[in-house]
Amino acid sequence: MFIHRPILQTEVNVQNPDPVFAEKLLEQYGGGTGELTAALTYWTQSFHTQDAAIRDMLQDIGTEEFTHLEVIAMLIEQHTRNASANMQDRAYTSTLFAIRGPGPHLVDSKGAFWDARYVNEGGHVARDLRSNVAAEAGALATYEALLKLTDDEGSQKALRFLATREVAHTHMFMEALNSINKLTEPLFGDLQPDNSVNVYFNMSSGPGADLRGPWNREPTFEYVANPLQHEEQEHSGRSGSNEMEMLGNNRSDTGPGAGQIPGRQESGGQSGGDDKSP
Ligand code: MN
Ligand code: MN
Repeated sequence: MFIHRPILQTEVNVQNPDPVFAEKLLEQYGGGTGELTAALTYWTQSFHTQDAAIRDMLQDIGTEEFTHLEVIAMLIEQHTRNASANMQDRAYTSTLFAIRGPGPHLVDSKGAFWDARYVNEGGHVARDLRSNVAAEAGALATYEALLKLTDDEGSQKALRFLATREVAHTHMFMEALNSINKLTEPLFGDLQPDNSVNVYFNMSSGPGADLRGPWNREPTFEYVANPLQHEEQEHSGRSGSNEMEMLGNNRSDTGPGAGQIPGRQESGGQSGGDDKSP
């Protein structure tokens, strides 16, 4: 059951009401990165996992997101209802508050209705938890933007608290992923991957576009510097013909990596750039 108590998780005390800022706050009420999205996402996800502890965490955090929704609602209410006539005029010429009145509405900062398609859920607990790490990043980015858009100390205090809680949630979801060994292991489910699972294709190639990092470094990854030649080789291997040579002769080989055969680097080899394989 849900029981509501009118106790706020953080103080909401707006000193300088600004309906224009309230309009921006709607992003965290009825927007994609908002608290309603987070609350309904984690609540729904909680019924997908048989892991009792992870289910409990999703319901704890989901319920906390409802308390954040309450804080945002009160911020919006105070920024609209308590605004001076002059400040209300500023907003009322450009926003929905003139039509729907003060307080929150289930739209984002541009007036688009909240949409269940904001919710990413279903299929596997690893998918849900990874999606939640990304969702919390979106919420944090929105709060960072909102904090830059107001000088009101009361609003800043509440927003800093809400932003901090999203950092905490991110950490919790990452630990939950770690507890099922899915924080650094990309594979989940029943898929038996083929041999492309560790292959990095250098598909965007040219000056400044052949850079190396841990995401394409041997021995974890096999770096294919020239995917076109790689494909020709693979195709040639499959058809058993000398088509690769014909293709090679017909192409103007002037681009980066031209003339490199094979395109595929040997595992463990240095491949130029500033790569320092561990
Ligand atoms: Mn939240
Ligand atoms: Mn959160």
